[in-house]
Amino acid sequence: MVDTASRSTKNDAKNRDATTDATVPATPAREAAAAPIPAPPAGARPAGPRIDVASLGHQLLGSWPEIRLEARKRVGSPELQRIEGQSMDEHRERVLGQLKILVDQGAVHRAFPKSVGGHDDHGGNIAAFEELVLADPSLQIKSGVQWGLFGAAVLHLGTEYHHETFLPAIMSLEVPGAFAMTETGHGSDVASIGTTATYDEATQEFVIDTPFRGAWKDYLGNAAVHGTAAVVFAQLVTKGVNHGVHAFYVPLRDADGAFLEGIGGEDDGLKGGLNGIDNGRLHFTGVRVPRVNLLNRYGSVAEDGTYASPISSPGRRFFTMLGTLVQGRVSLDGAANAASAAALAIAVTYGNQRRQFNAASETDEEVLLDYQRHQRRLLPKLATTYAQIFAHDEFLVKFDAVFSGKADTDGDRQDLETIAASLKPLSTWHALETLQEAREACGGSGFLAENRLVGLRADLDVYVTFEGDNNVLLQLVAKRLLTDYSKQFAKADVGAMARYVVTETAERAYHGTGLRRLGQNIADLGSTARSVAELRDADTQRSMLTDRVETMIAEIAGRLREARKLSKIEGAALFNRNQNELIEAARAHAELLQWEAFTRGLAKVTDPGTKQVLTWVRDLFGLGLIEQHAAWYLINGRLSPKRAQSVTAYLDRLIERLRPHAQDLVDAFGYGPEHLRAKIASGAEQERQDEARAYYAAKRADGTLPVPEKSKK
Ligand SMILES: Cc1cc2nc3c(=O)[nH]c(=O)nc-3n(C[C@H](O)[C@H](O)[C@H](O)COP(=O)(O)OP(=O)(O)OC[C@H]3O[C@@H](n4cnc5c(N)ncnc54)[C@H](O)[C@@H]3O)c2cc1C
Repeated sequence: MVDTASRSTKNDAKNRDATTDATVPATPAREAAAAPIPAPPAGARPAGPRIDVASLGHQLLGSWPEIRLEARKRVGSPELQRIEGQSMDEHRERVLGQLKILVDQGAVHRAFPKSVGGHDDHGGNIAAFEELVLADPSLQIKSGVQWGLFGAAVLHLGTEYHHETFLPAIMSLEVPGAFAMTETGHGSDVASIGTTATYDEATQEFVIDTPFRGAWKDYLGNAAVHGTAAVVFAQLVTKGVNHGVHAFYVPLRDADGAFLEGIGGEDDGLKGGLNGIDNGRLHFTGVRVPRVNLLNRYGSVAEDGTYASPISSPGRRFFTMLGTLVQGRVSLDGAANAASAAALAIAVTYGNQRRQFNAASETDEEVLLDYQRHQRRLLPKLATTYAQIFAHDEFLVKFDAVFSGKADTDGDRQDLETIAASLKPLSTWHALETLQEAREACGGSGFLAENRLVGLRADLDVYVTFEGDNNVLLQLVAKRLLTDYSKQFAKADVGAMARYVVTETAERAYHGTGLRRLGQNIADLGSTARSVAELRDADTQRSMLTDRVETMIAEIAGRLREARKLSKIEGAALFNRNQNELIEAARAHAELLQWEAFTRGLAKVTDPGTKQVLTWVRDLFGLGLIEQHAAWYLINGRLSPKRAQSVTAYLDRLIERLRPHAQDLVDAFGYGPEHLRAKIASGAEQERQDEARAYYAAKRADGTLPVPEKSKK
C-alpha cells in the first residue's frame, strides 16, 4: 500500500501536481480554487439545519409511495438483476426469463382494464415500472416494449374486440410482441413511413407490404428472436385513398419461431447498450390479416371498404393516436431520474469516503467531496435531480388523471403531451451527463463495471433517442408555445406583441418586482449583499426564468409573423433560421416547469430543517440556471455584470453550505445497497481508508515510520 498519509511536506508539495498548490502562497482566487473547504469529517453531523431523511425520502417517493416501495423490493432481488459481462444471447434469454418472473409476481398488469384482469391503475403502473431500471435497464425497456408499447397499443388504439382477443396473451407473455412503428428510412417523422396496409374488399383482409428497403421496420424490441406478433404501423389504403398511419395486429412467427409466410427480418445485433433486448428488422410482402385486425378506435373500415373515423382531420387523428402512447415518455423520464439519483448516491458516498492529497494537514488526506471542484461537479447535478423528481411526480399525476378519465379534455391531453415532450429530453440528457460526471468523480473505480456507472451510462444512452428524439420533442414544445402565443395575438399587431412582455411583467406583480429591478438598468451596481437577497427570493427566480421563455418566444413569434405571407419554401426557410433558438426556448420552458414543480414540492415540506436545506437546493437549481444562461441575461439587459458575478459568488456559497448535507440528500433517494450494487458505495472504501490511517497512526505512535529523505537534508 502506498504511504499517502504522512510523506509530504510543504516543500515537496511544490513539486507535485497542481492539486496540492494550496500549500503554495497563492492569490486569493487560487486559494479558493485549490484549498479544500473545511467541512465536518465524513459522517459527522452538520451543524445548523438538518434534513429529516426519512420524511424527505417519503416525499420523494411521490404520489404512489407504496407501489414504488414494492417495486424497489422486487428490484432488490438478484433474480431480476443484471449479470455484468454476459454474452448478448445469454443476456437476452435472461431478460425474457425475468419478464416471466414479473408476470408470475403479478407485477405488470396494473395499467390494463379490470375486464381482462388488470387494475386500471395508470399512474401506479408507471411508478412501478420505471423502478425496474435499477435492476437492469434492459428489463425495464423489454417490459416497456411488451406491455407499455405492444400491449398499450392494443389497449389504447384497439377496441373491446381487441382487448378480449389479444390482451390476455400479451399480459401473460404467451405472445411476446413488437411495436413496429419505426422504419429504417423514417424514425422521427412517423407520418411518412412507407409500409402500406391495403384493404382487399374481396377477402375482407388488409394486405401489408413493405414497398422498398427504407420501409423495413427497424430497431424493434422483441423482433429479432422472441416476438410472435406485432402491432404494425402502416398507411391505411382503401378504395384508392390513403387515410394515413394506422395500427394493425399482425402475427409474425409460428410455434417453432419461424417467420410466417411473407414476413422476413434481421437481427439488429450488438448495440451500444440494452443488449438484453433482441432488437430487429421486419419486412412484409403481401401479408394478409383479417379486417378486424385493424386497431380501430380512431378509424375503421367497413366490410365494403368504406373508411370512417370519429376524428375528421387526418392530422389531428394521427396526433391523437400517437398521444395515447405517451406513457413511454413518462416512464423514461422517471427511469432517467432514478439512474441520476443512483449515480449521485454512488459518487457522493464514495466522495465522502475517498481521500486524496493532503493539502491542509501533514497527516490527514482530504476527503474528495471537500474539494470545491468536486462539490461544483456533483451538487448542482443533485439539485437538478431533485427538481426533476418533483417535476416527474406532477407529470405522473397528470398522466394518471388523463388516462383514468378524471381530467381528460383535449386541452388536458395536449398539456400532457407538452409536459412529456418537455421533461423527457431534459431528464434523459441530464442522466447521461450525471452518469458521466459521477463516473469521472469516482476515478478509476468509476470505470469498473462492478460499480455500475459505465453500464448504466451505456444503457441509458439511447433514452435520448427513442420514444421521440430529444431535439425533435423540444421542437414540438416550441411549436405549442408559439401556437399559444399567437392565439393570444391572433388579431394583434406587432406593436401589441412587443408590449406583451412588458404587460405580462406588470401583470405578474404578485411575483414581486425582482425582474424589473434586476432588468431596469445595466449600470445598476447595487451592493452584492442586496442583489444576493433579491436573487434568493423565489419570486425573483421565477420572474427571471419566466421572462427568458416569454421574451424568446415573443421575439421568435415576431420574426415568424412574416411566414404567413411567404411561399411554402420561404416560410420553411424562415422557420429553419429560427429553429435553434426555438429549441432553446422550449428548453427554457422545460427548466421553468421543473423549477416550479420543485418550488411547489418545497412548499409541502413541514420539517423546518429539511425546508431550509431544500430551499438551498432549490436556489442552487434556480440560480444555477441563471448562471448557465448568464450570457442571455447580460445581453438582454436583465442582469448587470456585477449581479451576474454575484450569482456565481452566491452559488459558491450555497454549494459550500450544502456540502455537509450531501450524504443526507442522496440517502433520501432511498436506494439501498441492493439497488446501487456498487462496491465503492458499500463502505469498502471507508474500511480501506480506516485501515491505512490506522496503520500509519500506529507507525507514527511507535516511531517505526521511516523518515522522509528531505528531512535529512
Ligand atoms: C435501441 C432502440 C430501440 C428501439 N425500439 C423501438 C421499438 O421497439 N419500436 C419502434 O417503433 N422504434 C424503436 N426504436 C426507434 C426509435 O424510436 C427511433 O430511432 C427514433 O424515433 C429516432 O428515429 P431515427 O433513428 O430514424 O432518427 P432520425 O429521425 O433520422 O433522427 C436523426 C437525428 O436527426 C435529428 N432530426 C430529425 N428530424 C429533425 C428536424 N426536423 N429538425 C432537426 N433535427 C432533426 C434528430 O434530432 C436526430 O439527432 C428504437 C431505437 C433504438 C436505437
